[in-house]
Amino acid sequence: MKILCIGRNYAEHIAELNNERPSEPVLFLKPDSAILRNNDPFYLPDFSNDIHYEVEIVLKISKIGKNIETKFAHKYYDEIGIGIDFTARDLQSKLKEKGLPWEKAKAFNGSAPISNFINKEELGDLKNLKFDLKINGETRQSGDTAMMLWDFDAIIAEMSKYFTLKKGDLIFTGTPAGVGKVNMGDRLVASIAGSEMLNFEIK
Ligand code: ZN
Repeated sequence: MKILCIGRNYAEHIAELNNERPSEPVLFLKPDSAILRNNDPFYLPDFSNDIHYEVEIVLKISKIGKNIETKFAHKYYDEIGIGIDFTARDLQSKLKEKGLPWEKAKAFNGSAPISNFINKEELGDLKNLKFDLKINGETRQSGDTAMMLWDFDAIIAEMSKYFTLKKGDLIFTGTPAGVGKVNMGDRLVASIAGSEMLNFEIK
């Protein structure tokens, strides 16, 4: 399986990093070795001094497809979860400066902690889905899918132009404003519509 991600999908997050608003989505991938499950702890790597959290809604692909039309995209995912797109921001800044690929900053071991997945029917209106991240009990990020530049169906249509989507693939759908550094001992708790989905520690 593979993990596909979209960058710069929430306007306020684009502004906080002084990035340009893209005319087409920024896409990148993580390998399956990035996944952390079962609330396993995240170990800070020694190649970065600035690991950032980015809480994101995650879609699980339910059947194979490519060149999927936006109007049919909803048929290709039936489960939703939440995850963290850990980013070595110091490394990413260096790579961006030189115009180099982002993998070392985005796709490293453990850079994609994910929750369990629930059926999307249980979540109601996916175009107004609220989610948040608390660190040590304090809310750091609050998202609402209504604020996405590309919604779930548009993301699937765009990604499937380049990458055949297969059953079990995961799609990270972008982060809202409020990203920041994690520190040893932090406890991260991510929720969808107020229900706790992910709860793990930084070590
Ligand atoms: Zn992200």
